[in-house]
Amino acid sequence: MMTTKLIKDFLDELFAIDERNRLAAHNGMVIYQKPLVAIAAADDPLFESYRDPGIIGPDYIPPREWLPGASSVVSYFMPFSKPVRESNHEPGFPSGEWLSSRIDGEVFNDVVRAALADFLKSLGGEALAPVLDSRFKNFGVYSNWSERHAAYAAGLGTFGLNKSFITAAGCAGRFGSAITSLELTPSPRPYADHTSNCPWLTIGACGACIERCPSGAITEAGKDKSICRHYLDDVIKPRFNPLHGCGKCQTSVPCEDGIPLADR
Ligand code: SF4
Ligand code: SF4
Repeated sequence: MMTTKLIKDFLDELFAIDERNRLAAHNGMVIYQKPLVAIAAADDPLFESYRDPGIIGPDYIPPREWLPGASSVVSYFMPFSKPVRESNHEPGFPSGEWLSSRIDGEVFNDVVRAALADFLKSLGGEALAPVLDSRFKNFGVYSNWSERHAAYAAGLGTFGLNKSFITAAGCAGRFGSAITSLELTPSPRPYADHTSNCPWLTIGACGACIERCPSGAITEAGKDKSICRHYLDDVIKPRFNPLHGCGKCQTSVPCEDGIPLADR
């Protein structure tokens, strides 16, 4: 447990002092607030189950194939800062701050991935971040490693109607992970299944992301990824090139910065 606290303290400091966690084009606006960090056991059967075609598919690579001898997966969620989130509350086109955060924020995410792996090595373990590994492949709609499925195994949250991943700090943000041979204590998974944090999927309440979506990609039945993708490629990208993104379904909704109805 102590090592997990060391990891959290290390990342908190990195987020506080690294200039790459700021938007140069927007007066140095902070991109991410402090991250959530959780641990999954590398041999958790969930990882093997992700090879099921109904979940991710046979191309998925579980932790011990990325790193033989792996014991733990460190997963983190980086919530967008309040100014970044609020900049995207207006309906319609995405804010400049949101678009920049999607690009600069993912650059910083790679910084975090590499720094986390180095820190785990400094603690005496082997470590790697799958997304930075030469074997990592993105097939378009899925990859051979999923940050959000790692987060689910680590107890960080569950999926929503909008196909975002809802954590205790909401869904507006980005995820990352590193695999290590260090034996860390797995975090609790405080939910019944992969839908528990979305009231629409559990009790038929909310549905706010349906109204927020400018492309009609989200309906009561779920999110049509191809409609969303066409909107991003055909409407957003030509207008804001090279920036692209939208995120209306992650902002000004009850799951933006927390778990809806969590205190009921
Ligand atoms: S806005 Fe409501 S229905 Fe949509 S994902 Fe968030 S909690 Fe679920
Ligand atoms: S990103 Fe935008 S277009 Fe895509 S589902 Fe969310 S709100 Fe709709």
